[in-house]
Amino acid sequence: MSLIDNYTLKFDPIPCEIGSEEWKLTCEVGKNLNDFLPYLNGYIKKAIYDPKANTFVFTFENHKVSVSNDKVMIARIKSQEEGKNLAEKVVKFLNEIYEKKDEITPDYKRKQPPKAMDIYKLLPKTNCKKCGEPTCFVFATKLSQGEYEIEDCPELNEEQLNGLKNLFNNI
Ligand code: SF4
Repeated sequence: MSLIDNYTLKFDPIPCEIGSEEWKLTCEVGKNLNDFLPYLNGYIKKAIYDPKANTFVFTFENHKVSVSNDKVMIARIKSQEEGKNLAEKVVKFLNEIYEKKDEITPDYKRKQPPKAMDIYKLLPKTNCKKCGEPTCFVFATKLSQGEYEIEDCPELNEEQLNGLKNLFNNI
């Protein structure tokens, strides 16, 4: 039996520049995946894992993927077609890891994301709202929690972008 046999897709639009489209995709898998998260943590080294909140975030084909409870969420989808293909690949990837579960040593240790304040220090701090959030600090908090990508702030200069990439070099 697979980890995920069936799933349904839900697309939520992300506010972005006029003329472009982006979506956050949620795969509702119909079962709780939290017992599997320590195995994912043991298998995927570059990730964020919070055992208390039961969230595991990793990068797949340049997309942030978050696994928690009965959902797999994929960020920055450009079209519903891309989302469907990516969801299929991510589910296949997770099922393949599940098949190797007996060979994986589960890792129950937290892998911490950068702190919101450290992220905030590297943001433009103009509160321009182009990311869809009311302030840079709200964006920093959500970026820390894996809800955004660094590039979701379109106002970063090269120095800020590189600084944030260094801060996130564990994922
Ligand atoms: S787009 Fe960037 S600069 Fe503007 S509010 Fe969001 S985080 Fe701040």
